[in-house]
Amino acid sequence: MIRLTVPSIGKEEIRAVEEVLSSGYLVQGSHVAAFEEAAARYVGVQYAVAVSSGTAALHLALLSLGVGPGDIVLVTAYSFVATANVIELCGARPIFVDIRPDTFNMAPDSLKATLKRLSKTNDISRVKAILPVHTFGQVADMPNICKLAEQYRLPIIEDAACALGATFQGQQAGTWGVMGCFSFHPRKAITTGEGGMIVTNDPQLNRRLRAMRNHGQDPQADSPDFILPGFNYRMTEFQGALGLCQLSKLNEIISARRQIAARYDLLLKGTDVEVPIVQSGHQHVYQSYVILLSNRKASQRDEIIKQMTASGIESSIGTYHIPLTTFFSRRYGFKQGDFRIAEKIFARSLSLPIYHGLSFDDQTVVHEVFLLSLRA
Ligand SMILES: *Cc1c(COP(=O)(O)O)cnc(C)c1O
Repeated sequence: MIRLTVPSIGKEEIRAVEEVLSSGYLVQGSHVAAFEEAAARYVGVQYAVAVSSGTAALHLALLSLGVGPGDIVLVTAYSFVATANVIELCGARPIFVDIRPDTFNMAPDSLKATLKRLSKTNDISRVKAILPVHTFGQVADMPNICKLAEQYRLPIIEDAACALGATFQGQQAGTWGVMGCFSFHPRKAITTGEGGMIVTNDPQLNRRLRAMRNHGQDPQADSPDFILPGFNYRMTEFQGALGLCQLSKLNEIISARRQIAARYDLLLKGTDVEVPIVQSGHQHVYQSYVILLSNRKASQRDEIIKQMTASGIESSIGTYHIPLTTFFSRRYGFKQGDFRIAEKIFARSLSLPIYHGLSFDDQTVVHEVFLLSLRA
């Protein structure tokens, strides 16, 4: 089976984890701190706070801004459900924004229209944050989203779960808003099994996030004191050691993924599928390589995935049209046609295997099987 993705775990990672396990210090100590420091340096921010998952990172980021019951957060309609779930988990309400058809990222035009619509009601005062996603590893249209955020004085939290190392005009994903959230789930470029990171330049948020991930314990107090009711969202020491090791390979991993993506682009030229569009000035990190089937073939997408599986190739949908998942459609009454671009992209998208260790020959096989399944 050629998998959709395989983490790049080598001898160094195994040795690093082994060392920590033998040391007897297993939770949030010097290895987590070293991973945080390296991540902050890589991204180019003051603070990085390691947590137990990307979802935990997003949850804490919202809570640290005081998002709670009655509040509204503007969020992209096309993402993994965790992006919207965390808003619900704060007791707040997500208001979804449609996406751009080329990059699958939040559409500034739709964001603008949504803000305008909310401005005509009292609801605008309940909006507490904007939550764009750097979909599949390409930075969202941040200059325009930031402009709107400034205009309405709203903080931005970036869901950069897929985008560690992605840049636009040299600026890293995760550094555009007040906080950026990363994931180290095995489907991402580098992994700690489960794990996440929040980056920020704000010392107050840094302090609050550190307290919130650790039962509310004040990170600055000399003797243990608790300043708020916190969670246990800590990262383990062996994950910290693993993450540090993985981070040192990130650039190599990204360049391998970019090479694989470039070859898919070439191989798929002249077919009726659309390859990922990388906008000028962008450094895409290809957490996923997502193509669009033609409108005509879209109805056969699930069949194509099944056929590829039968031939030993794992493939998948892109990501989710969140408003049309059962929970959100029931809760808010969303129906087909509400988010037209997200709906189209959701139906047409197909994710092909991409990872550091994917061999040239395996990629050739993926391509051949895909074309056969497409034409079947
Ligand atoms: C993976 C992912 C998450 C969740 O991260 P976990 O570490 O799995 O909790 C959130 N948002 C997006 C866009 C993701 O791809």
